[in-house]
Amino acid sequence: MPEPQPSVGRIVHYVSHGTPGGEYPSQCRAAIVTEVPEFLTAEPFDGCPNGTEGQWAAGLAVLNPEGCFFNRDVAYSEEQHGGTWHWPERA
Ligand SMILES: [Zn+2]
Repeated sequence: MPEPQPSVGRIVHYVSHGTPGGEYPSQCRAAIVTEVPEFLTAEPFDGCPNGTEGQWAAGLAVLNPEGCFFNRDVAYSEEQHGGTWHWPERA
């Protein structure tokens, strides 16, 4: 299992939000880690050190085919829910 701790400059996957009707499924996009905040801001670990119980929040520069966008406090999820990040699968 890859090391879950993100660091600035690493490339991870961001899961795009699909459309509600399913016309566009959520997809993995390449993203560069832009920041690793010191503390978590989402419940149930609001105020806890980043990485508590494997919850790693990261700022990301997401590289979509249509353009880039920036996102802060993106949650880690192995389940690859829309709007979360994970490590790329190893080839
Ligand atoms: Zn992925």
